[in-house]
Amino acid sequence: MVIFIGENKKMPPCIFCNILSGLTPADIIFRDELCAAFMDIRPINPGHVLVVPISHAALLTELEEAACGRLLLVAQRVDAALRASGLKCEGVNLFLADGRPAGQEVLHVHLHVIPRFAGDGHHLRFHPAYFKPTPLADLEKNSDLIRAHMGGS
Ligand code: 5GP
Ligand code: ZN
Repeated sequence: MVIFIGENKKMPPCIFCNILSGLTPADIIFRDELCAAFMDIRPINPGHVLVVPISHAALLTELEEAACGRLLLVAQRVDAALRASGLKCEGVNLFLADGRPAGQEVLHVHLHVIPRFAGDGHHLRFHPAYFKPTPLADLEKNSDLIRAHMGGS
């Protein structure tokens, strides 16, 4: 059976929409009217949780403001729950891949909440050029480009 989610009937089924509608099983730990949180099927460390908006949005920029704000509040609650859970959690990484080139596999916005501990073996790697500070003039050129599109406060 093929089920199409969202307004565009040509869209492929979204695995996270299927989880939210109960079509695909998942370990849901929290749900309100805007967001839900469930266990990642391929945890980076035990206790890895995904926080998602209930309403489908592929990219962060497509997410309505209320759901965007709630996403971080729910992540904060998951963070606190992880630290209290007895699972190994000495710190927490929040990670959101926004778009395929940024590493987004599932095109339904999701905020990873990942428990971390010393010696867990995971590392972020950066290109060697990262370690050299960028000249101030280049930073200013880039900030001008971004500021022009920031909108009002
Ligand atoms: P991304 O790479 O898009 O930031 O992360 C997608 C995440 O979704 C991955 O960590 C992956 O393990 C998780 N994931 C993919 N399919 C499923 C699924 O069917 N159920 C659950 N619970 N997690 C999934
Ligand atoms: Zn979806």
